[in-house]
Amino acid sequence: MQKSVLVVGAGIGGLATALRLAKRGYKVEIIEKNSQAGGRLNQLKKDGFTFDTGPSFFSMSYEFKEFANDCNIELPFKYVALDPLYTVNFSRSPKTYRLYKDIHKLAEQFKDVEPDFEIKMRKYLKNGKALFNDTVDIVIKENYNSVFAYLITLMKVNPVHLPILFRNFWQQVCRYFSSDDAREIISLVAFFLGRTPFDTPAVYTLLSYTEFEHDGYYNVEGGMYKIVEGIVEELRKENVTITYNTEIVDFVANGRKLDCLIDQNNRKWKSDLVVVNSDAASFRGRIFKRPKFSMEKLDKMEWTMGPLTIYLGLKCKLPQVEHHNYYLGDNFKEYANKVFQSSGTLQKPYYYVNVLSRNNPGCAPEGCESLFFVCPVPDLRFKKSWDDKDEIVNSILADFSKRINQDILPEIVSKTIYTPVDWQNQYNLHQGSGLGLSHKMLQIGAFRPTNFDEVFKNVFYVGASTVPGTGLPITMISSKLVVKRIEKLGK
Ligand SMILES: Cc1cc2nc3c(=O)[nH]c(=O)nc-3n(C[C@H](O)[C@H](O)[C@H](O)COP(=O)(O)OP(=O)(O)OC[C@H]3O[C@@H](n4cnc5c(N)ncnc54)[C@H](O)[C@@H]3O)c2cc1C
Repeated sequence: MQKSVLVVGAGIGGLATALRLAKRGYKVEIIEKNSQAGGRLNQLKKDGFTFDTGPSFFSMSYEFKEFANDCNIELPFKYVALDPLYTVNFSRSPKTYRLYKDIHKLAEQFKDVEPDFEIKMRKYLKNGKALFNDTVDIVIKENYNSVFAYLITLMKVNPVHLPILFRNFWQQVCRYFSSDDAREIISLVAFFLGRTPFDTPAVYTLLSYTEFEHDGYYNVEGGMYKIVEGIVEELRKENVTITYNTEIVDFVANGRKLDCLIDQNNRKWKSDLVVVNSDAASFRGRIFKRPKFSMEKLDKMEWTMGPLTIYLGLKCKLPQVEHHNYYLGDNFKEYANKVFQSSGTLQKPYYYVNVLSRNNPGCAPEGCESLFFVCPVPDLRFKKSWDDKDEIVNSILADFSKRINQDILPEIVSKTIYTPVDWQNQYNLHQGSGLGLSHKMLQIGAFRPTNFDEVFKNVFYVGASTVPGTGLPITMISSKLVVKRIEKLGK
């Protein structure tokens, strides 16, 4: 008989798993807390503008192609390579760096501050490439049944990489580059993992290889939410239903089997198997009441940044601003060391700006611009009150106006702000942490919350806080790994 699967959460991890399973003949249904699918990969339509609310680009495009091949479908959205990948501006100088994939062209911009940048960058990327080739397929794309199995796999990695295990991202970058500008720009990618270069392991310098050489970054035509719309449409064709506004709050177990999940209206949801796309650590604590994931224990884990996000509709164009832009101050190390733990009002925040309407004119009315700001901030363990959000947002907007030489304040016709409180409440993200558990050594591989449940034999997990980690392509890998596990059970 056809096995039934209930997927809890319609984030990218839940949607991708649901489609892979439906295509394999499982009877799948999805329930979602919110009124629309996508989770963090979401969309806000307001005042005639369209905003992507979370992810604004992705890397490792081949993971999406793999997903489409696995499901035997055409990829249901179109993506476009970015070049420059992004721009970076420091408050200490009017210069704007354009991060081109062509290393020679990129090096030209560093000739004043780091004359031999090209040679250094090629060496740095060569190392990143070796790391990538020696780890990604062997370590990251595997399921582990135990810490022992994980350690055995690690022992298969070329020992030449051993010293890197003892360094952080910043230390690794400093071995290659000497100028502040080069060091700070090249190590920015650690922020994409939701932490800083000072607490992100050096193995993640392989990401520099993925961004500059291996694959690059991509935008989605029409906005990132097209990914969600495309997969939801494929699910509809497979008769997978999504029930919205339904939050799981409790459960009933029968020994080592989960009997049913219970939603906020006391409705019972029964299925042969359950795949939880809600955060794999906090769901175990909040719903299954596992002592290892109690609130106290969760708080002791290392989490990624809390995002402060701003969605602005402007009644003017900003031709001088590229699609993806970083605005940094002049106290990188001090800022990075404090940013995730400071409880007070943030002084001179560092931030990212995405001009969605630049390449997707349909996302803003004629002559207007749709802007998305992300400012990495402390999660709710460290900064509980966001009464000062307007003050922080105003300081960001004033700084941005100064940097681009255009006062945007009188041009604002739509403004929405999400603080970590909103991120927490919308998607059940622990303490408003935007990207889930961090990727420190003791929270990756077999040390990350597993994609199978410790107690219930019929419960599995997919998404950012289980293996292998956060980000859209990595969550696609997560869906592949959990499906592998489920298939092993047999139909
Ligand atoms: C501001 C921001 C910017 C980002 N930018 C990028 C980027 O540019 N590129 C990139 O690759 N990644 C980016 N990320 C990371 C990326 O968004 C995540 O890694 C990815 O979307 C995680 O998907 P997921 O399926 O694991 O979880 P989620 O998207 O969180 O999905 C989980 C779903 O489960 C639902 N749910 C939770 N609890 C319950 C419950 N009890 N009952 C029912 N439903 C429940 C939630 O509502 C949600 O819809 C960004 C994240 C943020 C916050």
